Amino acid sequence: MNIINSNLSFRSNLSWGNNPEAVVLHHAGAKMCSIEDIHRWHLENGWCGCGYHYLVRKDGTVYTGRNEKAVGAHCPGYNSRSIGICSEGDFNIEVMRQTQYSALLELTRSMLSKYEISKVYGHRELYSTDCPGENFPLDRIRNEAAGSSGRLVYPGYPIRMNPGLEDSNVKAVQEKLMSRGYSVGRCGADGFFGWGTLEAVKSFQRDNGLAVDGIVGVNTWNKLFG
Ligand SMILES: [Zn+2]
Repeated sequence: MNIINSNLSFRSNLSWGNNPEAVVLHHAGAKMCSIEDIHRWHLENGWCGCGYHYLVRKDGTVYTGRNEKAVGAHCPGYNSRSIGICSEGDFNIEVMRQTQYSALLELTRSMLSKYEISKVYGHRELYSTDCPGENFPLDRIRNEAAGSSGRLVYPGYPIRMNPGLEDSNVKAVQEKLMSRGYSVGRCGADGFFGWGTLEAVKSFQRDNGLAVDGIVGVNTWNKLFG
């Protein structure tokens, strides 16, 4: 993944020796902000500079905050043993779009594998705060970041035909169908639920004794991913 080096200047009293055991997820609490904004805010707090190790913006770009080896300033009790990742946005009042989610997922996965760790927390699980917001997709990212060995959890809504809408859950369904020998049509796993995918879902349902409605509800999902 492409990570942009922000070249921030930190105060010299930055401490080193961060030893990550977990990834801690945050939101900025601001609908729009750059890494420079966050850096400035944290300097104004009297800190060494940006307290997070990374910022994921809404457009899916990822920026460096403080060095991974530097002790963070994002979650008391965990600053010397975690990677702090902030997502641009205020997820108490908005929802995370796919572009940002995909980048956050990829970054989280890369940190887990780099440090051979598995724990992913939301800030509020470790400290008295509402960060990263009630709409933040915490359970989903935790499940999906756990790796390809982790079973994908039903996303909570039925996946149905909608050729005009790209959805990562549709892509996951298509990939799974294809791996089980069901063709989803000439476009392959493109994330769009069209006629080819509809026929594949129906065939899968027919072969597995499920109601043949072409909709991936919880039963079809669990049969497919179980
Ligand atoms: Zn936070």
